[in-house]
Amino acid sequence: VCALEPKAKVSDACASYADLDSLNDRLHPYVRNLANNTDFFSYYRLNLYNKKCPFWSDENGLCGNIACAVTTLENEEDIPQVWRAEELSRLEGPKAQHPGKQQQQKPRPLMGELGEQVGESCVVEYDDECDERDYCVPEDESVSAKGDYVSLADNPERFTGYAGEGAHQVWEAIYRENCFSKPQVNGNSVSMPGWNAPAPGFLQNQAQAAQDFKQVMRAHDRKQAIDAGSSLEASGIEDECLEKRVFYRVISGMHASISTHLCHDHLNQTTGEWGPNLQCYKERLHEHPERISNLYFNYAFVLRAVGKLRDYVQDYTFCTGDPAEDAKTKAMIQRLANVIPEGPKIFDERVMFQDQPSASGLSLKEDFRNRFRNVSRVMDCVGCDKCRLWGKLQTNGFGTALKVLFEFGNGEGGEKPLLRRTELVALINTLDKISVALKALDNFRDLMVAEGQSE
Ligand code: FAD
Repeated sequence: VCALEPKAKVSDACASYADLDSLNDRLHPYVRNLANNTDFFSYYRLNLYNKKCPFWSDENGLCGNIACAVTTLENEEDIPQVWRAEELSRLEGPKAQHPGKQQQQKPRPLMGELGEQVGESCVVEYDDECDERDYCVPEDESVSAKGDYVSLADNPERFTGYAGEGAHQVWEAIYRENCFSKPQVNGNSVSMPGWNAPAPGFLQNQAQAAQDFKQVMRAHDRKQAIDAGSSLEASGIEDECLEKRVFYRVISGMHASISTHLCHDHLNQTTGEWGPNLQCYKERLHEHPERISNLYFNYAFVLRAVGKLRDYVQDYTFCTGDPAEDAKTKAMIQRLANVIPEGPKIFDERVMFQDQPSASGLSLKEDFRNRFRNVSRVMDCVGCDKCRLWGKLQTNGFGTALKVLFEFGNGEGGEKPLLRRTELVALINTLDKISVALKALDNFRDLMVAEGQSE
């Protein structure tokens, strides 16, 4: 497999769908095994219920469906040892504290400074303090915070029935971060097909929206073009900067992955049976090749980040309290990283963030990071618990991939910022979601052929 340039379309780049599919055939068992069969990676702690939507009142967008519910683990005994509050507090100590911004800027502390058997990944975080290199708002793992433990295997991402205005408003807000928006200019809203009007007062910064109007209109044209299935290049908007296109592709690819999961694990409301829904696939994915291309793009992008962890995880302490389990988890992630082609062979991130600063005065990278953080905040507005769980996990996963790609120095001795436990778990599970989605697409293609509808 040769490098997928961020600006290339998967379908016309040297890394073809077939290349990435055959790579996925090899990697899929490793990713599945890691995500499903280790305590470290199959549980997640997050603040699922206690954060209010920071952008609008979300009371109307709530999903009352049973399929939207998440089963959380209420009893300490049900939580695997590795994730227990008791276990976390055992690791507390005068030196086992959140390193804090200032300390994190210094070279990484030696493992010994944290005390025997305590790695940086075991450090309990007491606050929401965010490293400026983070691409999303960190999930607070502190013992006192009202976090919820969730078994990811027991709450699969699938059809929930969450739809309508509430869901559209969230997607709209997410795309708006890339200026794919319907700004209100002098109180008049600019219409965009397929979208409902935003809630009053939704736009946080109308002045800026007005300023961006011209650019947004270009983006608006682009969105229409993309939804019509044309390529970015063919729609004549190649003047749009590379980083913005990457941002859009990550979001659109994530959206495509969610659509694939919900179409493949769909509830037939007449028979009560779960299974693939071909019509759903046709309407949401097959008729929009650009979306499928963006999903493959995300695969290459996240794989590259996981491959870059090859050396990093060598010194990572998995905090199981059980050295044998710890060694097993580490060996599994190393095995996975070793199967990923080395170096920037599948995705070449080095061409990004070369031109700085942007017109806004912020560096393009800061701008990109801020926008991505906003996307992760929007997840608190998702009115379906299960969708919010996977939405939060995946934005954290993509945020972590971005952090690894753009904040871990390339080459020997490059500085490597701390990865929180939740970041690592989110990254691996995001890769798992994409890997499963690619398999589901494969199955849908077979089903299309079987039904004589391959074109
Ligand atoms: P939507 O998927 O809501 O899309 C809205 C508009 O976005 C479309 O009209 C189209 O113009 C555009 N669009 C669609 N896909 C793309 C793409 N890939 N790239 C670019 N533009 C696109 N539902 C579930 O059943 N299970 C889940 O787990 C789930 N998780 C969700 C997580 C989040 C964060 C959100 C916001 C929603 C989730 N939903 C989930 C709801 C689901 O995504 C849809 O919103 C819902 O099924 C309604 O679909 P729709 O056909 O109206 O179009």
